[in-house]
Formats: sequence, C-alpha cells, structure tokens
Amino acid sequence: MSPVFRFAPSPNGFLHLGHALSAMLNADLAIAGGGRFLLRIDDIDAARCKPEYEAAIYEDLAWLGLHWERPVRRQSDHLASYRAALAQLEAMGLVYPSFESRAELARIAAAHRSWPRDPDGAPLYPGRGKSMPEAERRQRMQAGEPYSLRLDMQAARARVGVLTWEETGRGPAGETGIIAADPAAWGDVILARKDAPASYHLAVVVDDAAQGVTDVVRGQDLFHATSLHRLLQVLLGLPAPRYRHHRLVLDRDGRKLSKSNAATALRELRARGISPVEIRRRIGLD
Ligand code: GLU
Repeated sequence: MSPVFRFAPSPNGFLHLGHALSAMLNADLAIAGGGRFLLRIDDIDAARCKPEYEAAIYEDLAWLGLHWERPVRRQSDHLASYRAALAQLEAMGLVYPSFESRAELARIAAAHRSWPRDPDGAPLYPGRGKSMPEAERRQRMQAGEPYSLRLDMQAARARVGVLTWEETGRGPAGETGIIAADPAAWGDVILARKDAPASYHLAVVVDDAAQGVTDVVRGQDLFHATSLHRLLQVLLGLPAPRYRHHRLVLDRDGRKLSKSNAATALRELRARGISPVEIRRRIGLD
C-alpha cells in the first residue's frame, strides 16, 4: 500500500519557517516513498480562522514548489463526521459536560500549591462535572449555559489495553521506536464545546482516518498529544498511522516560532527576495 502523508495547517495566521519544514518534509517523504501528499485545512476553530489565511496557505505552499492532491479537505465541511464520532463516545458513556469557565478552572488550580498539569502545561480538570447529578446537567444545558464536553479518562482507559505507537522520528527527550502512550497525562480533555463540534484532538483522528493517512509527520510539540490520539483511535475503531515527530524551527532566542511573528512568515521572507531554495537551506532540508 502506498503511503499517504498530509500537511494540516490551521488558517489562523500566516505560515512560517516551521510550517515550511513540516510541509516540505511531508512532500519529500511522499515523493521518496512513491506515496501521496495531501493538504488539509484545519479550520474547525471558526472564530480564529480566516479565508485570507487559507488563501495565503495555497499561495505560500505553491511558491515553495509543493504539489498536493485536490480537492483539499476542509474540516468545516465535515462537521457531521465529528458529531458522529462524539456520539459514538457518548454512547459508550465516556463523555460528560463541564460548566466551569477557563478563568474559573485557572482560579481553582491557582488556589492549590501544586496542581497537576497536562503536557502542554494546562491544569488538569478538577472533575466536578463528572460527579454532577444527571438532572442538574440537563437543567443547566437546557438553560443555555456554556459547557465543554469532556472525555472521562478513567472510564476510557478502562476500555482499552496497553496503547503504543510507532515513532519513526523523535520525541522531545529523544524517544523513538515503539512508544508507550500515556493518555492519562491529559486528564479529562475537552472533546467539543457547546458552540464547537470538535476539539483538535477529536477532529484530527477522524480526519486522518477518513483520508487514509498512513504517516503523520508533524512537529515535536505534538509528540505527547499522540498518546491521546492513540486512545481516541482505539475507542473509535480507527487505524493507527505511523508517527514521525520532527524537530522544531526555533527563533534566535531558542523559542518556538509563532504565527504572530512576522519576521519568520514565509510571505515576509518572499517579499525580501529570499528563494525557496534558501528556505530549504535555512530549515536544514538540503
Ligand atoms: N492543525 C494542526 C496544527 O497546525 C495540525 C497538527 C497535526 O499535524 O496533527 O497544529
């Protein structure tokens, strides 16, 4: 079976050198392995995504010399499939609503000397929603209160055996080979919100399976999220891709690049007369 690679940017800012590394690595590996290279527009977060950023993605990637299959999958065209995946998890009794705002949760965590945090540094959910009586849940949802739908991590883990994935790249601590997944590190993660049909984690596993992606090649910042993705794949009966997490492109101060920094945006570099060949050299892809 020929391998299927994908680059899946979110149109919430202009692509930078870090995206160029991801996109070009995926395209190079697809060519080397006689496989396919797909582009996916991860625009599930409607509040932050803009059509002008999506247009810029096509323009910047074409300028880099990349060729991708068409039509391009856009998450906003597939909301029903995320709802179906969520309904599958709900039917398994693995989803519950929580009503605390982000600020409230931050306050709860701050009131304790040490509060457990997820691999991204966000406080783990204290879990009050999980023990809320069903009648109160229903009444608060019916009253129109905002809520998040969370995965009951304990119940979810109880349904699956040992989880692993094949890592052909490296994690932040050099992890490679068969990796033991640790989804519990994420606690009761958000799968959807009242006004958002799916979180990134839920959408990404549905999309990768729908597109037949065999190889997920992406930045090391998503290495730990793979634990969660493996859990969701097993719960939803989806196949496991291979994973290859690549090093991140850092700025002069050693920080991860951000979409808000114009200096490393591809269109800014292009405007300064830098060529795609030079971009490849800068990100160490010769
Ligand atoms: N839209 C996600 C991002 O830009 C994709 C991550 C992934 O490749 O799974 O971070």
